[in-house]
Amino acid sequence: MTTALAAALARLPALVAGGGFAWWAEQGGAEKLPADAAARRARAVPPLLVHARATAARLGVEPFPSLDLLDLFAFVRPAKFCLPTPHGLLQRIGFDAADDEEASLYLQEAARILLGELPQQSPRALKRCARLARTLQKAGWPWAPYILAALGEAAASVPAGGFGGFDVWQELPEWVDYAPPPPPDTQSVSPMEARERLARLLGQNQFGAAERRESQADYAATNAQAFAPRAQIGMPEAVLAEAGTGIGKTLGYIAPASVWAEKNGGTVWLSTFTKNLQRQLDRELDRLFPDAAEKNAKVVIRKGRENYLCLLNLEDATQGGAARPQDMVPLALIARWALATRDGDLAGGDFPAWAVDLHGRNRTLGLTDQRGECIHAGCPHYRKCFIERSLRRSRKAEMVIANHALVMIQAAMGDDDSQKPLRYVFDEGHHLFEAADSAFAAHLTGQEGVDLRRWLRGPEGGRRSRARGLANRIGDLVTDSDTARNALETMLEAARALPSDGWLARLADGNPAGAGEAFLAKVRQQVLARAPHPDSPYGIECPTKEPVAGLIEAAQGFARGIERMLEPMNRLVKALSDMLTDETAELETATRSRIEGALRSLLRRKLTLDAWRSMLLDLETETPPTFVDWFALERSDGRDLDLGLYRHYLDPMQPFAAAVLKPAHGVAITSATLRDLAPAKADAAPDAAWASAEIRTGVRHLPLPARRAAFPSPFDYGARTRVLVVTDVRRDAMDQVAAAYRELFLAAGGGALGLFTAIFRLRAVQKRILKPLAEAGLPLYAQHVDPIDNATLVDIFRAEEQACLLGTDAMRDGVDVPGASLRLVVFDRVPWPRPDLLHKARRAAFGGQAYDDLLTRLKLKQAYGRLLRRADDYGVFVVLDAQLPSRLLSAFPSEVDVRRVGIAEAVAETRSFLNAMRADSDTQQSA
Ligand code: SF4
Repeated sequence: MTTALAAALARLPALVAGGGFAWWAEQGGAEKLPADAAARRARAVPPLLVHARATAARLGVEPFPSLDLLDLFAFVRPAKFCLPTPHGLLQRIGFDAADDEEASLYLQEAARILLGELPQQSPRALKRCARLARTLQKAGWPWAPYILAALGEAAASVPAGGFGGFDVWQELPEWVDYAPPPPPDTQSVSPMEARERLARLLGQNQFGAAERRESQADYAATNAQAFAPRAQIGMPEAVLAEAGTGIGKTLGYIAPASVWAEKNGGTVWLSTFTKNLQRQLDRELDRLFPDAAEKNAKVVIRKGRENYLCLLNLEDATQGGAARPQDMVPLALIARWALATRDGDLAGGDFPAWAVDLHGRNRTLGLTDQRGECIHAGCPHYRKCFIERSLRRSRKAEMVIANHALVMIQAAMGDDDSQKPLRYVFDEGHHLFEAADSAFAAHLTGQEGVDLRRWLRGPEGGRRSRARGLANRIGDLVTDSDTARNALETMLEAARALPSDGWLARLADGNPAGAGEAFLAKVRQQVLARAPHPDSPYGIECPTKEPVAGLIEAAQGFARGIERMLEPMNRLVKALSDMLTDETAELETATRSRIEGALRSLLRRKLTLDAWRSMLLDLETETPPTFVDWFALERSDGRDLDLGLYRHYLDPMQPFAAAVLKPAHGVAITSATLRDLAPAKADAAPDAAWASAEIRTGVRHLPLPARRAAFPSPFDYGARTRVLVVTDVRRDAMDQVAAAYRELFLAAGGGALGLFTAIFRLRAVQKRILKPLAEAGLPLYAQHVDPIDNATLVDIFRAEEQACLLGTDAMRDGVDVPGASLRLVVFDRVPWPRPDLLHKARRAAFGGQAYDDLLTRLKLKQAYGRLLRRADDYGVFVVLDAQLPSRLLSAFPSEVDVRRVGIAEAVAETRSFLNAMRADSDTQQSA
């Protein structure tokens, strides 16, 4: 590093914000300032900091110009992980700051180290890096001059004012195609084989010998039954296995799955609900394939297309210097990452999630194929495309790690993987119901209509957009066919019936345009007229029954508009299908593949339009009994977001069973919380606890019953946890609720997770406790408040032992934090299901109050389950709601003593229990 660069860095101040105050470091010293004074200084001189948006939020001001070290980190170390906090970044670089003051003093040094790494690249990478830095210099990025100085000669070879470095496809390798694999064999996996494989995974590898538990081996042997040959079509071998925390579930199903894949030359799909478990599974598979190259060939993580970077979108966004200056930084970071990424997954892979928070979704995730506009083999980057590479790898992999949503959408839509999976393991099986509820629903809303119209017609009204209409994407394929060309043109003209950009404003002005908007205007009228609280800042809804005057006519008009689109769409589908058969001899492979891609996309949209047409026509009669229909206006913080007609299955496990379970040959469904242990009744059947699991996993729709087995957790919940129900805090007095959270969190010394049933309650508490906790040295993070995505918030919480975290539903079972970082969970009140119209219908169908109780017990059970992730964990679970009915207490293990106490006693008990457990744990460690 040159002396000039080092001197320039030494002049930069650094800022680390806490709650209500901040540390300002300059010229070797650090000063503690009130938040407003720190903000004033920062506005005068752009400081070094970590996470510009979160820092501004902590100071309570709008973002201000700064040198964000996260941007520099992403540029210098693309596709590398780092927590987006001062301590997280410093740790990644090799510093362990004791507190925020020390962290503020280290930031300059962190910048120096990162800049010093830049010259250590290959000559080719250096050149690209310099071109990107020149581009960013032109765009006014504050790091650009420092990067160019650090690059030295490499930078000097690129003229100032230059533009480029984004054409990463030049350097990406092409994917390799293989002949389709033969169908897998059908040899079974014996329980002994599963046990032996488990023993090998646990003991004979680089991880050293691990404790072998009998219950884990029994669990593996049970799962082996899901890999038996199928006896009859439509009747998969199904296993329902509940495995309490600590059984070692993942290796317990990887064992039989890997034996089956190996013996039969087939692929097993391991499906999870959360990204966190996907990552964990990926890590566990290192035991099966310790050799990285072998693992790369045999394991693939599959996600929906909308997760991966589309190279054509990147090219379009940067073509001819078209990008706006504020887009340049995220585009450059993506370009750097694209050459370092493992698989091109922009939405949850190795692209930093905080880059999305810092630069916005449009400028980052907007580069994925979100709208299904892929032109397949017509794309100049087709042979290097990340999505195509992932698809091909999954066809020959032994293990595909997927998620429930992808599995279901692929099955429902006949997505672009023609080789349907035959063997599945569904982990986090308690989430199958909600995943199916979302995958098999149909939403006829304004936003969905706009998206479809844009997909068909492209950008309209002279709007600048990267979107490409269908004529642009497949026009050249149909030039030689009058029928196809005519069908395409007619369909695009008919698509004017769909709503277009600006529809919400037109509806508010009473000025809808076209049949779709005319219908939505009537829906809006009905929702506002019938919802109990039309002015609510959150979403409102109403039944479709007894529609307002003119709604049926508007629905029929829109249905006719949709029919006018469907008729030419059917003709176009037929014409394209005919091309594939009639022109077999002449069609080049690339053209064939493009036609097939266009057909798949069209058929997907046809399914949607068919569903919309039925929904509209059904408004005149009764909703079919398998569905629940309603109108809703979606709002957030008082802002209207979307509006329309919603249709969900009353029992979404019906289509799930038909599309996924029945076509499969074997399925294992597992979770730590499958059964509902309702309070025992004298006349209850011995297997009553399984009834809810069979409903919520869909196995009750199979012709043969699933094999069922439960493996209790080996943890000592009675000794290592406490459950306290607080009886003297008024749950609607937010000052009291916040004070209870504050005192409990302080008593625990951090490591606390606060769960809330509503966003406004979370915000009310966060506002009140941020400062007192910060003053006690306990950093507080909050979903819906901090501009940081959920998974990253959990990562920060896991890494910082004193941190506290507040969250709503998604945090309830997305937090997998073993060790001392989580020792207290506080629920603000009983988490009853939201009493919306869909729940009302299901409640009536699935047992009334018993259904409410079931869902609430499962939520409590999942939340409580966060406390013990390892045998040596311990913790306290508190519910701040005296109205928690005793019949819900069976959510907790029977050996746990649940006590109803006042808040003062709850605080004292939390403090003394955690202190005693901590002391006990320290003693054991030192022994
Ligand atoms: S093949 Fe499709 S998804 Fe891949 S880069 Fe091209 S347009 Fe994008």
